[in-house]
Amino acid sequence: MKRKDGWLFVISIISFVLLMGCASDASSDNAEKEESNQVEASSSTSETNEETEEEVENSVDMKVTLLGTGSPVLSMERLGNSTLVEVGDERLLFDVGRGAALRLDQIDISPGMIDKLFVTHLHHDHTVGFADLLITAAVPDPRGNREGDLQVWGPEGTENFVNSTIQAFEVDINTRKQVEGASGLASTVHEIEEGIVYENNGVEVIAFNVDHGPMKPALGYRINYKGRSVVISGDTTYSENLIKHAKDADLLVQEVVVVKGPDEEYQSEAHKNIEAYHTTPEQAGELFKEIDPSLAVFTHIATFLPEHEATIVDRTKAIYDGEVELGEDLMSIEVGEEVTISE
Ligand SMILES: [Zn+2]
Ligand SMILES: [Zn+2]
Repeated sequence: MKRKDGWLFVISIISFVLLMGCASDASSDNAEKEESNQVEASSSTSETNEETEEEVENSVDMKVTLLGTGSPVLSMERLGNSTLVEVGDERLLFDVGRGAALRLDQIDISPGMIDKLFVTHLHHDHTVGFADLLITAAVPDPRGNREGDLQVWGPEGTENFVNSTIQAFEVDINTRKQVEGASGLASTVHEIEEGIVYENNGVEVIAFNVDHGPMKPALGYRINYKGRSVVISGDTTYSENLIKHAKDADLLVQEVVVVKGPDEEYQSEAHKNIEAYHTTPEQAGELFKEIDPSLAVFTHIATFLPEHEATIVDRTKAIYDGEVELGEDLMSIEVGEEVTISE
């Protein structure tokens, strides 16, 4: 071997050793990576299993948000009566009392994201927010504007109420349409009677008559989905038909009115008349015993003396020993395997 050839041979040997070293490092690196991937894969599989189990355990089929738990009585804490039911892909609004659009905004839902409204009856504490819901939907909002009509279901008289309101705001509505090209400012009304009034995507809404004294017709609603059910009593006194339609509901959203304590005198004839077509805490206890809901939550909390509000649940529980809660504005109730309150 010549001297030059000898050097070349030595360099080749060194290169070969270095290359093999790198290769072996690389292969051990790969082995480590594979091992760590396997660990990650197995841990992510177990995480996925845990998540799936958790999801099944906590699966929420319906979410109910009490937007307004008040009555005609003026209150900053309890705005007008309105309840949002989110079920599957559906967003259903039940009544639209004072400040409903503001409460929707507080839970990051623009008025334009609502296009289905169910009205229980035509007292103003359930309807005064209608124009706000309809027209504010035309104000540009990145969260969404209504494309089609606002669909409204309600008892006889609803069509007149909706059309008259639209007529009252005609100048505003026409200007917004012409100048701003706004959509969603029309309304389609379905005047309904007792029975199934809406069916879509597995969601069923049933209207039923309740007893609201001189206010006829007055409706309650039952919303069924995947074997779960939410019932909204509407305004009513003790009603056999409410019991029939609310039987075994997962969640009952129940109206209540307190004009006096059990041993107190009526302060006026008006208070006595008001009580006659609403539900007292004691009547609610009797209703709950028959209905047996997983959870009953009071809404439409009308009291004429502030100290009465704190007595409502106790007065009810003196008669009924199931789960009862006093609703609050923006209280949210999740209905799934369990019925839980999240605020
Ligand atoms: Zn009312
Ligand atoms: Zn009413």
